[in-house]
Amino acid sequence: MRVLVVEDEQVLREALRENLTAAGFTVDVAADGAEGLFAGLEYPIDIAIVDLGLPKLPGIDLIRRLRAEGKQFPILVLTARDRWQDKVQGLDAGADDYVAKPFHFEEVQARLQALLRRTGGWASAVLACGPITLDTRTQTVSVEGRAVELTTFEYRILEHLMLKAGEVISKTDLTEHLYEQDFERDSNVIEVFVGRLRRKLDPDERIKPIETLRGRGYRFALPRNTP
Ligand code: CA
Repeated sequence: MRVLVVEDEQVLREALRENLTAAGFTVDVAADGAEGLFAGLEYPIDIAIVDLGLPKLPGIDLIRRLRAEGKQFPILVLTARDRWQDKVQGLDAGADDYVAKPFHFEEVQARLQALLRRTGGWASAVLACGPITLDTRTQTVSVEGRAVELTTFEYRILEHLMLKAGEVISKTDLTEHLYEQDFERDSNVIEVFVGRLRRKLDPDERIKPIETLRGRGYRFALPRNTP
C-alpha cells in the first residue's frame, strides 16, 4: 500500500518514512502543503498522513483541495494534543481519523491499517478468504492453519490483493501501489512474484486463490469469510 506523508518537521517526516517502510508500506513524502497537494493529485496514493500545521498550504486546505478534486483515499491527520478544535476541523475538512502528537508509531500504524481495511470493506484486522488467513497486525499468513513464509514483497502483493478481494487489480496498479516513484517499473517482475505467491500458497494447485484475467490483471478469487 502506498502512503503519502505530508509533514514539515524533517525529523518526524524521516522517522515516519523509516517506520512505515519497515512496516511494509511504500512511502512518498512531502515537506509542505503544496508538495503534498501535488503528490496527492499525481501519485496513486492509497492513504495519506497529513500534519495540520504546514507551510505553503495549511493541512486543512490541503485536505479540502484533495477532496474537492475527488480524491477519496483515507486521510489521517496529525494534530497537537491539546487542540480539540484542530481534530474537529480536520474531520470536517474530510479527514477520516487523527492522531495527536507526540504519538507512538504503533498507534499511527494501527490507525492506518484500520482505515485501509475499512476502505476495502473489512471490519477485522484478520482477513480470511477460504482457507487463507492474513493477519495485518502481525503480517503473517496461513493456509488451512499452516503458516506460510513470505518475503516482504510477496506479503505486500498478497495484502493488496486480499484487501481488495473480488476486485480486478491491473499489473500497472499493483506496480504503482507497491513501488516508489523512482523505482524502475516492470510488470514482468510482478508476474514473477505472483507466480511465487501461488506456489507458496497453493503448491498442489487445489485452491487457486489468485486468478489471472488476461490483459486485465489479477483478482483474489476466494470468497471472504470474515466481515
Ligand atoms: Ca507542522
